[in-house]
Amino acid sequence: MAGVKKVPERMCLGCQKMHNKKDMIRIVRSPAGDFSVDVTGKKSGRGAYLCHNIDCFNVAVKEHRFEKSFKSIIDNKVYDELRTGIFQIDR
Ligand SMILES: [Zn+2]
Repeated sequence: MAGVKKVPERMCLGCQKMHNKKDMIRIVRSPAGDFSVDVTGKKSGRGAYLCHNIDCFNVAVKEHRFEKSFKSIIDNKVYDELRTGIFQIDR
């Protein structure tokens, strides 16, 4: 059969389950060290994936999974900005 593509999946840093990449949020660290939400999926830099679910975000923060994934210390301010950027809420 032609045209059958495997759906690319990524693991969520929160629930640690595999999901369709397209349904996930990509958080990327630029080579300059800035964190941002990658809505296009095309930003360069190291990326981490999350479900579009604030519980997954909070678990990932609490368990320091972003820090492990990016191998760097992340300021609370950065988390607040990401949280606001992804979920449009302050906390
Ligand atoms: Zn999740």
